[in-house]
Amino acid sequence: MALNAQCPVCDAEISLPDDTVKDELFECEECGSELVVASVNPFEIEEAPEIEEDWGE
Ligand SMILES: [Zn+2]
Repeated sequence: MALNAQCPVCDAEISLPDDTVKDELFECEECGSELVVASVNPFEIEEAPEIEEDWGE
């Protein structure tokens, strides 16, 4: 079984294994965008926020 959704960036079909967990990061195979699992049930994905590592010194 697999979870299916559409890439929010390029609308490509995305299929992930059903042991995928919330907040899991992955890359769209079509456009290479970094995506995150926003919710598993219902299965929803969205663009991953850019992590800024600018904590200063
Ligand atoms: Zn995409």
